Amino acid sequence: MRTDVVVIGAGAAGLLAAVAARRLGHEVLVVERSGSVGGSTATTDGALWLPGNDMMGRVGIPSDSAAEAASYLDALAAPGSPLVAARRVAFTRTAAIVGRWLTTSRIALEVVKGLPDCRPDVEGAKAQGRTLRPKPVPPKLDEEWAHTVRGVDPAASQTGLRAWLARPFRDPGQLSGGAALVAELLRRAVGSGVQLWLEAPLTSLLVDDGAVTGVAVERAGEAVDVHADKGVLLACGGFEADQGLREEHLPMPTSSDWSVGVGADGAALRAGQQVNAALAGLDQAWWTPVLLADGKAHKVDVARIAPHSMIVDQAGDRYLNEAQPSVFAGSRMYEHNRGMRSVPSYLIMDSRHRKANRLGPWDAGNSPKSAIESGELVKAAGFDELARALGVDRAGLIGSLVAFNMMAKRGKDTDFGRGDSAWDRHFGDPLLRRNPCLGAVDKQPFWAVRIYPGDSGTKGGLVIDDRSRVLREDDTAVPGLWACSASAASIFGGSQPAQGAGLAAALVEAYRGVLDLSGQLTQLDETLA
Ligand SMILES: Cc1cc2nc3c(=O)[nH]c(=O)nc-3n(C[C@H](O)[C@H](O)[C@H](O)COP(=O)(O)OP(=O)(O)OC[C@H]3O[C@@H](n4cnc5c(N)ncnc54)[C@H](O)[C@@H]3O)c2cc1C
Repeated sequence: MRTDVVVIGAGAAGLLAAVAARRLGHEVLVVERSGSVGGSTATTDGALWLPGNDMMGRVGIPSDSAAEAASYLDALAAPGSPLVAARRVAFTRTAAIVGRWLTTSRIALEVVKGLPDCRPDVEGAKAQGRTLRPKPVPPKLDEEWAHTVRGVDPAASQTGLRAWLARPFRDPGQLSGGAALVAELLRRAVGSGVQLWLEAPLTSLLVDDGAVTGVAVERAGEAVDVHADKGVLLACGGFEADQGLREEHLPMPTSSDWSVGVGADGAALRAGQQVNAALAGLDQAWWTPVLLADGKAHKVDVARIAPHSMIVDQAGDRYLNEAQPSVFAGSRMYEHNRGMRSVPSYLIMDSRHRKANRLGPWDAGNSPKSAIESGELVKAAGFDELARALGVDRAGLIGSLVAFNMMAKRGKDTDFGRGDSAWDRHFGDPLLRRNPCLGAVDKQPFWAVRIYPGDSGTKGGLVIDDRSRVLREDDTAVPGLWACSASAASIFGGSQPAQGAGLAAALVEAYRGVLDLSGQLTQLDETLA
């Protein structure tokens, strides 16, 4: 088969690339390994961090600039190389353009009101406005495609009071978050003539004299060669599902069972090896603390931020601000584990917390007997029993609880600053005036779960330049090959600038890659300079 552009992976990045390439007049084929469209994107709330977007004025942030956003990124983590510095500049300059591309494509976005950048105290940060999300939409896909979009559970991204407020208004007939974004992009893709093959994994690149000329994919049990006259874009994620690659590159201990990603297995890395592509950042991931239940990892963002809970290590000591952004919390778990065992750690909650908040797969107030009997969820009448059940040092645990409860009564976490930042407070309980993230853990029964430094995908991958071209070790571009998102090394290093930064970078890199392979990127960059 012959086409102009082959995109590997039908997540948001792959679909946006496909629609953009089709609009530029190319024949496009998207090949997707799974039987569903949407990848990790469809399981998220679809948050998109697009600095300088056109909607910021609506929430009272009239001015933002690419330079401010770039200086914020540099303050969080040094770029490390001129290449990453150039990619950051390209990202911050193009982010608003991609926002406009989505809205002019009639994919409605709204500002996530009140949500600041992850480190609001750092130079260049904004108090709100940069993070957008797709508005809920009715599914408008025809029957052939409607069932292919990976589902999403909107309740999982809501915290205590917000979940309760949202409940009566949630319309089960609407798609929201990442699933809405994916469905909208999919509709435009199939409507404009993009070809999409499901259950068609990339197996290798077709390479001729160092240049990528197409891909080999498996389709219905057959090997199919697809020649791409313009180029191939890898948008097939990282390697979170491959235990061997995890052990080779990520900090230990590590397990693919701790990942909440949809299971990218390193296809982009293997493809890159065929053309001697350079690799970077392989020890980094989008860390997120998780609990394990029913054989799956579940994020605990709501539960660890909500008041009446705290996290301790295996000596029973508290060691982090539980409410900090997930990437920082996960990497803190690893750092602490070097001196004192904190993998797993324990999330300790009291009865008020259990009644008010979702915890992994369990709704607020619902604590199944089977989970308690299997030990996934620990219930105890008092602190002694809790320490015994968890096997942690009794004196250590009780000392931590007493100290924590005193701080909670004063509303000030003098040890780790939980609730000091506008980021923490955004997710806390607004009914707790002194500190929305801090409440004593003192009402029986007590509850606990083991938590692990899980991830929502890896961050390291192929080295690309600011045109999303895949580079070799000597910085020369591999002809015919572009990569984006988790298939490429992240521009954010070990940091998390904001909710939606990962997805936004994915879309921007996909967009820039398509413009580059169409010979139109220089023109865009000239207008942005
Ligand atoms: C639970 C969760 C929460 C998240 N929360 C956030 C957040 O708050 N903010 C944020 O910015 N990011 C978040 N992320 C990360 C975000 O989802 C990703 O950055 C984004 O979805 C990447 O989009 P993508 O299109 O590149 O990848 P994906 O949406 O993952 O799509 C990749 C596609 O490639 C396919 N694929 C894999 N291998 C092959 C192969 N060999 N051949 C063909 N196809 C293949 C996969 O099946 C998949 O469909 C979260 C991720 C998860 C899992």
